[in-house]
Amino acid sequence: NREIHLASRPQGWPTADNFRLVETDVPTPGPGQVVVRNRYMSVDPYMRGRMNDVKSYVPPFALDAPLDGGAVGEVVAGGTEGLRPGDTVLHGLGWREYALLDAKAARKVDPDLAPVTAYLSVLGMTGLTAYAGLLDVAGMKPGETVFVSAAAGAVGSLVGQIARLRGAGRVVGSAGSAAKVERLRALGFDAAFDYHDGPVRDSLKAAAPDGVDVYFDNVGGDHLEAAISAMRVHGRAAICGMIAQYNDTEPPAAPRNLALVIGKRLTLRGFLVGDHGHLRGEFVREMAGWLRDGKVSYDETVVDGIENAPEAFLGLLRGENLGKMLVRV
Ligand code: NDP
Repeated sequence: NREIHLASRPQGWPTADNFRLVETDVPTPGPGQVVVRNRYMSVDPYMRGRMNDVKSYVPPFALDAPLDGGAVGEVVAGGTEGLRPGDTVLHGLGWREYALLDAKAARKVDPDLAPVTAYLSVLGMTGLTAYAGLLDVAGMKPGETVFVSAAAGAVGSLVGQIARLRGAGRVVGSAGSAAKVERLRALGFDAAFDYHDGPVRDSLKAAAPDGVDVYFDNVGGDHLEAAISAMRVHGRAAICGMIAQYNDTEPPAAPRNLALVIGKRLTLRGFLVGDHGHLRGEFVREMAGWLRDGKVSYDETVVDGIENAPEAFLGLLRGENLGKMLVRV
């Protein structure tokens, strides 16, 4: 069994030295436990925060112990009434080839209903984040103009498509390369821009000349500042993530225009997907229907090999992914 440990805590941008590949024995299940051979694991931006030794909504990763995170794989040993060897499960012990867990902590999924990777992306936590953030947290209504940042990423690309399917008047996205911008147009975004091409404020003004009702923030910083400037009276922002500052060692320089929140009566609302589990049933039904009807497309970028998981994570922070970044274990 090979697994990835956190060898040291990154200061600023993580490097390969912060991780260590460790070989251990394949675990043996005790009563009520299963051993899962992981097939795919997720790397996610929030994991950067867990590499710091600070109190947050999830505990920090421990040093010299395996990292963890979403994974899917097959039960290979152990089991209970509802779970037997051969079953495919979703669970939280990625970053290793073999995971030992309580059967209760594994959720059985149907590999015939959807490709197993979908449970980590479009039908999983990623998709629910987009759905809950846009519809529940920001309360998008038909006819409204929606702006989403990191729009070619896993969450962002779904936000734009859900907005369109739920009747948004105009959907605008920003991303980090010309190829990503082209992809956004193909996914049905009405306008998209590369944020390297000029100040975000100017690009957003050109893309949404009549202003923005809903901003789905994945980036923070200059994107949030531009959105606050572009938002119309009573605009709402779902604050999902601020990836532009996860590796910063200094406080952010933007947004500098927060005072506009008052005159425009804006709502900026942070949220965690974990608080929106009550929407899961509705979300899976609606998303599965859209997928069946070919109305939603989802991209996945797959990196091969557990030994390359740290590089996949770094690539995610650098924007090397289109859609969901996954590791084939
Ligand atoms: P993505 O698939 O969107 O990957 C991250 C992307 O961020 C990269 O592909 C990159 O794309 C972009 N990015 C990186 N640095 C910058 C920067 N400085 N400025 C602008 N864009 C940048 O990841 P996810 O879809 O998994 O996550 C998206 C956001 O949602 C993150 O902020 C994450 O923390 C948050 N999140 C929050 C949750 C919650 O419960 N609140 C749950 C899940 C995710 P590009 O090439 O365009 O720069």
